[in-house]
Amino acid sequence: MHLGLSLSPQLALRQTQRLNLTQTQRLDLHQHLFGLRLELVGRLHDEHYTPQAKCSGCSYNLKLVEILHGFRDDPDDITTECPKCQRRFTPSLIAHGRFGTKVILSFYCSEQTLARLDANIDPATYKKTHPAIYRSVLFHFGSLRQAFASQGREYSFKESFEWAEKVEPFLGRLPDTEIARCANVPVGKIRRLRRKFDIPVFTKRRTWDEL
Ligand SMILES: [Zn+2]
Repeated sequence: MHLGLSLSPQLALRQTQRLNLTQTQRLDLHQHLFGLRLELVGRLHDEHYTPQAKCSGCSYNLKLVEILHGFRDDPDDITTECPKCQRRFTPSLIAHGRFGTKVILSFYCSEQTLARLDANIDPATYKKTHPAIYRSVLFHFGSLRQAFASQGREYSFKESFEWAEKVEPFLGRLPDTEIARCANVPVGKIRRLRRKFDIPVFTKRRTWDEL
């Protein structure tokens, strides 16, 4: 469990019930936090991600949190559900690269992502040949290693990327555990960095009060 920002938006919602927020306020809080995670993952990988999910029935544009809620967690069903008209359709994730490149990819839920993993593919090849799965791995698990670890499997390829400066703007705004997971480093490193800058630990209450 990652302090309520885990793989299950339903569980995350239950965890914020003690803040006495309405359902709509909880959705707003989680939209904010999932949005921050998506932004952090983008920074770490020198990309920028935008979810794209315009309902094919009523043209409503789903928020990230609504896309995540609409997933069935069924490896064979890659659709999400429109909260307005209940139509099911496939959401996308747009990956904007550093040099103006733009790729529109399928956006998978964590279960669909796990079902499509292959431990024989190295990270660079993953990004090239399985671009949608690769970005979904980064969003849900932070790294391939951690995606495999969540299934009790090992991933032998090394994944390393610059993280220290990139995580700074997110310290205290997301749980240390979440930042550590996205940066693929032990949580102690994030905690030390946060304390070095004298940034108070993340709490949902303060985050909500500041929203
Ligand atoms: Zn709709």
